[in-house]
Amino acid sequence: MNTTQDLIKTFGHPFNDRAAFEKKFMILWTVPADIHARIPVLPARLYINRVIAIPLEKVLRQLIKDGTHKEIKTWDGCYNPRSQRGSTAISRHSWGIAVDLNAAWNPLVRGVTPKTRQSLRAKHVHWTEDFLNAWRFNGFACGADWNTVLDGMHMEYIV
Ligand SMILES: [Zn+2]
Repeated sequence: MNTTQDLIKTFGHPFNDRAAFEKKFMILWTVPADIHARIPVLPARLYINRVIAIPLEKVLRQLIKDGTHKEIKTWDGCYNPRSQRGSTAISRHSWGIAVDLNAAWNPLVRGVTPKTRQSLRAKHVHWTEDFLNAWRFNGFACGADWNTVLDGMHMEYIV
């Protein structure tokens, strides 16, 4: 998992000079036409950190190959400079290295314990293992795998 310190070291602090950060790292990535045709809910162009362009394309191609791309119902964003919901910690979305998908079906759940995790995950994470594996195998951490917070919508590239 990425630590905040690692991300600041790699990309700088996302709030200090946002324009400089965006100029250096953010790109408007055109989703390849064949991918977009299969997953039309994706915007035609995604504003993402350039380090995730290749792994993201690999994941999307893997999903299509597996047929699990059909699980994607909504694109819920990537770059969004902000603090984490209900906290002062910097959101991973401030660096444009994480994407949210199907947010309405995979909400953020806090206060997860070893005792409640399994039932909360069953209730609040709606992806197949094949779908999540495509992300995991291409270098992304899935919020569905976390222990104290479940964030099923969240797929974050490990830099
Ligand atoms: Zn997220």
